[in-house]
Amino acid sequence: MTVRTGIGHDIHRLAPGRRLVLGGVVVPYAQGLLGHSDADVVLHALCDALLGAAGQPDIGQLFPDGEARWAGADSRQFVAEAMRRVRAAGLVVANADLVVLAEQPRLAPYRAQMIQSLAGLLEVAPQQVGLKAGTNEGLDAVGRGEAIACWASVLLVDMDRRAGSE
Ligand code: MG
Repeated sequence: MTVRTGIGHDIHRLAPGRRLVLGGVVVPYAQGLLGHSDADVVLHALCDALLGAAGQPDIGQLFPDGEARWAGADSRQFVAEAMRRVRAAGLVVANADLVVLAEQPRLAPYRAQMIQSLAGLLEVAPQQVGLKAGTNEGLDAVGRGEAIACWASVLLVDMDRRAGSE
């Protein structure tokens, strides 16, 4: 039996004039995250967790910041590529668990929609995705409302194992 765990972390700076996209969901807010792509910090952390678990290069190596073709990119395509590599390794997602840290805006109203979006990308049921949204208690850049950060953890198991359990 193959069981592989992965962890990912990302942080992006908030800035005016940008769209805020978290977990593939557009969240109405006065600011958005700065980055070369759509700067979806949740999907970037998730991507690195998937890639790490599958023994693949990280997101920065696969989709370099300097490459024009990733400018403004929808980060869902990064997760799609990570999932392609997961499948190619004969693995599937058993579960994912994420912690998003944002002082503002309040993410609770968008939690269900974000879980639905993440479950779709990971090809699992919503029950296999955990998502906690917390503040940083006023501490550091996240606490000052200057940035949003995310931690993601995933567990991958072999494809056959899931097929056998269903
Ligand atoms: Mg990033």
